[in-house]
Amino acid sequence: MARYGPNEHDVLIIGGGGAGLRAAIAAIETNPNLNVAVLSKVYPMRSHTVSAEGGAAAAIKTNDNFDLHAYDTISGGDWMSDQDAVEAFVKEAPEEMLRLEHWGCPWNRQDDGKIAVRPFGGMKIERTWFAADKTGFHMLHTLFQTTLKYQNIRRYDEWFVTKLLVDEGRCLGVVAIEIRSGKVEAILAKSVIICTGGCGRVFPFTTNANIKNGDGMALAYRAGVPLKDMEFVQYHPTGLPFTGILITEAARSEGGWMLNKDNYRYLQDYDLGVPQPKPVLRSMELGPRDRLSQAFVKEQEKGRTLKGPYGDYVHLDLRHLGEDVMNTKLPFVRELCLKYENIDPVKNMIPVRPVVHYMMGGIHTDIQGATPLKGLFAAGECACVSINGANRLGSNSLTEIVVFGARAGKAAAHYAAERTSMSPSVAKLTADEQKRIERQFYGGGTRTEKIASLRKEMHEAMENGAGIYRTESSLKRSQERIHELQERFKNISLSDQSYIFNTELIAAIELSYMIDVAETIIQSALSRKESRGSHQRTDYAKRDDQDYLKHSLAYQTTKGSPRIEYLPVTITRWPPGERVYGR
Ligand SMILES: Cc1cc2nc3c(=O)[nH]c(=O)nc-3n(C[C@H](O)[C@H](O)[C@H](O)COP(=O)(O)OP(=O)(O)OC[C@H]3O[C@@H](n4cnc5c(N)ncnc54)[C@H](O)[C@@H]3O)c2cc1C
Repeated sequence: MARYGPNEHDVLIIGGGGAGLRAAIAAIETNPNLNVAVLSKVYPMRSHTVSAEGGAAAAIKTNDNFDLHAYDTISGGDWMSDQDAVEAFVKEAPEEMLRLEHWGCPWNRQDDGKIAVRPFGGMKIERTWFAADKTGFHMLHTLFQTTLKYQNIRRYDEWFVTKLLVDEGRCLGVVAIEIRSGKVEAILAKSVIICTGGCGRVFPFTTNANIKNGDGMALAYRAGVPLKDMEFVQYHPTGLPFTGILITEAARSEGGWMLNKDNYRYLQDYDLGVPQPKPVLRSMELGPRDRLSQAFVKEQEKGRTLKGPYGDYVHLDLRHLGEDVMNTKLPFVRELCLKYENIDPVKNMIPVRPVVHYMMGGIHTDIQGATPLKGLFAAGECACVSINGANRLGSNSLTEIVVFGARAGKAAAHYAAERTSMSPSVAKLTADEQKRIERQFYGGGTRTEKIASLRKEMHEAMENGAGIYRTESSLKRSQERIHELQERFKNISLSDQSYIFNTELIAAIELSYMIDVAETIIQSALSRKESRGSHQRTDYAKRDDQDYLKHSLAYQTTKGSPRIEYLPVTITRWPPGERVYGR
């Protein structure tokens, strides 16, 4: 039996969200003798997965099949998805959903006892499994309670990773801060899986929780792993204007309407890919998220949006659905509106605006979750396999985190079983990181920059220059500002100089991660001179398959902007075509 030091494991997973917990279970089930650890900056049940509302896609009905799910995903992603990954994804999706059912996930059912599915944007067939509008909560709870069965899964709750330990081209573990004590320690592993979620907080208006700062993406990037397709940032058309809180797409799938200031269903005026015998009343609110968000900007330009204290907005009208539907299918929507807007959607229209929701891009991995760095794997929203291409379809992410979480867990377990020795350089690498944190964040009496002001400036730069519509000049302006923020960050000053629960220290490091991620978004967007899915360049308005049917890979350089390389998109059976959503 192998012997382990106190902080030494076979497989270490960074992140206790859906992807991380599914990976942990897969690793231990692959080899029950392995010593597996899950490390998370928040208690696992507080990961962002908990807030997912609408549901998880998997073909289950007799009128559905794997090819239809694959085609919706690929066309929804504007042909940027790797089709081998999508084929694996759609096939394993129902297996994963049923496994969750056996572990206790309370999926909604029809009256005849069969699994109920709801329609979702861009999916031409109803295939979204749901547990009321608290799907993420139930999935995460199911996964969390399943991990508790295994003695060999150790948890590091409220530990924060600051660096990947890398020597001789291999990942050896991480350096992390134990938040409650402030001690900085190495945690070693033969394989590491990054499952740290998305980076919506790089933008000012987002549905993403405060903890979604692109930590894992920046950690991998700093370790020399490229970030793939970072120009593709998804806006969701229906966030609450002030808080950015999401009003789930399920509200539109149950029949909600989008209305402009004249109470007009404005989406009928836009090309949503829907063939136009106007008005296309059934499916227009269920067009894909990128097109709906773009339509909002056009309405804004025509002066047909409403003005509010937190910017322009339109209305989501659910009043005609009635109280019964609200209470049975959308109880959380009602609760959120009552608590955060003081309105009841049974009687009032809901003010909404597009808000940043999801990152299609992320850490470059292969179909098993392996990155180009030996011993390092990634899964979930932080990774880019890629199944989501240039625009993710609603309800594919919750499925993706379990399908690819499981794949990465298995691959990391196999890799760990082969490795034996640890590198002697770990002690030095750890000491260097301890010194860096001390030097950069403690005792700097003359430093003047504040986290809040740098973060605000980053938000403005991203919203103004790299938002729903982009141009070369808007991106260049943002790039200059982000470069400036990189420099100014060196002068960051913390007013809290303590070690115990120093949340200001954590916020400062998170900001440094976000600035790194921001520069990859901007450079990848500048280099892609076409419009595709969520990446809309008004100076290059057309999709250009000739030159850009390829993934971008952003590599960190020692000075200045990231270097962009490209990788072909894998096409198996569906050659590029037009995105069409008519029923
Ligand atoms: C409001 C909302 C609703 C959504 N609804 C849906 C939906 O209905 N259907 C759908 O398919 N998708 C939905 N999504 C998207 C989907 O929920 C997410 O993409 C998915 O849950 C991400 O899971 P994850 O495991 O990759 O990351 P997360 O659940 O975000 O977990 C990340 C983990 O990493 C840890 N971590 C991060 N950084 C560090 C660090 N430096 N050190 C240590 N630990 C760290 C965190 O503590 C956390 O445990 C929604 C997203 C939001 C924001």
